[in-house]
Amino acid sequence: MKIAVAKEIDMGERRVALIPDMVARLVKSGLEIWVEAGAGEGACFSDAAYEAAGATIIHDTAHLWREADLLVKVSPLREREDGQSELSFLKPGAVVIGFLNPLGEPHDMRHLAERQVTAFSMEMIPRTSRAQSMDALSSQAAIAGYKAALLGATALPKFFPMLTTAAGTMAPAKVFVMGAGVAGLQAIATARRLGAVVEAFDIRPAVKEEVQSLGAKFVEVTLQEETVAAGGYAREISEESKERSRQVLTEHIKQSDVVITTAQVPGRKAPTLVTEDMVMQMKPGSVIVDLAAEQGGNCACTEPGKDVLKNGVTIIGPINLPSSVPIHASQMYSKNIVTLLQLLIKDGELNLNFDDDIIQSACVTHGGEIRNQRVREALEAIRQPV
Ligand code: NAD
Repeated sequence: MKIAVAKEIDMGERRVALIPDMVARLVKSGLEIWVEAGAGEGACFSDAAYEAAGATIIHDTAHLWREADLLVKVSPLREREDGQSELSFLKPGAVVIGFLNPLGEPHDMRHLAERQVTAFSMEMIPRTSRAQSMDALSSQAAIAGYKAALLGATALPKFFPMLTTAAGTMAPAKVFVMGAGVAGLQAIATARRLGAVVEAFDIRPAVKEEVQSLGAKFVEVTLQEETVAAGGYAREISEESKERSRQVLTEHIKQSDVVITTAQVPGRKAPTLVTEDMVMQMKPGSVIVDLAAEQGGNCACTEPGKDVLKNGVTIIGPINLPSSVPIHASQMYSKNIVTLLQLLIKDGELNLNFDDDIIQSACVTHGGEIRNQRVREALEAIRQPV
């Protein structure tokens, strides 16, 4: 079986789907690995390192895509500079694995199904204990949370830690993390390590203990409705509850030096947690780092990919933060991919057992069909605009 590692072409994408250490492991298990020339460059892995791990370096991109039995990548399939879509290269019966954004780009899933390609979406790996080592959403979110705290510390015109010096004592920075999922918890841990005083809020009350165990204070807001959906994710809350939380949160936002927002509701636009009015009440020099920038933003003033200055407050809307830590992001993603491959491949052949909940959940297209109900609904919504 020939497994190909594609060079990412998405703007600013520095990650690679398999690092040389993981290639060596797959080669040892009898698999043939092709790596597109320069695929690891952005993450500081040379072609020579892949060759030493037992991979074959392929210079002709179209050849690599057409011959692959299974192709691994990071970002969704894209149109290339020559106008051809990456998905049109895959041969019938091939498998593609990556962050394919099936709910955002369902028409691509239809094309893959029409081409008889089997597609696995890393976003659709279930968030269960058994799937933990394949959970790329978590591995990459942890990196984003870490980097968000660093961005906040760099943009803040103050120290993070308390400093007692001959020139006086500096108070520690106050950091407020909104949304304490995987990214939020890592942002809390990083900000605490840098010496900041940290508060956090989430609509899922279950995270209170995790927040406290990291040395942060949990801000309580009592809401009169269920806030947790299936799988432990947040549910979209009513306008009334949003307004109620905003009243409590405004005071905390006003007093913070850095606000890091990470709140998301799967399949929905990110909720607005910081209104323009709240930004106007913040101290000049304060910083907001909005990790939901690409999903519509948690702050009303966020512009994805830009730093916005409003009333002396810097609002940072970073895009693809995991890619800014490409070595470790690729290392973690590779581990997620290899664990998934171990589930999909038996004795060097593809072996898909759809009774397995991980395969059932992550496989978006197979046998000419879109298997995932939510993707079919997303496609239907495009066909029948309201
Ligand atoms: P996410 O990226 O979807 O959302 C980030 C956080 O935003 C969540 O904690 C959510 O509760 C919060 N949020 C949503 N709306 C909000 C609002 N209006 N105000 C404040 N906060 C809001 O979530 P995630 O980090 O990918 O994961 C969330 C949860 O999924 C985990 O905490 C856990 O319960 C579950 N999970 C389980 C596993 C596992 O079992 N292996 C792995 C990862 C995640």
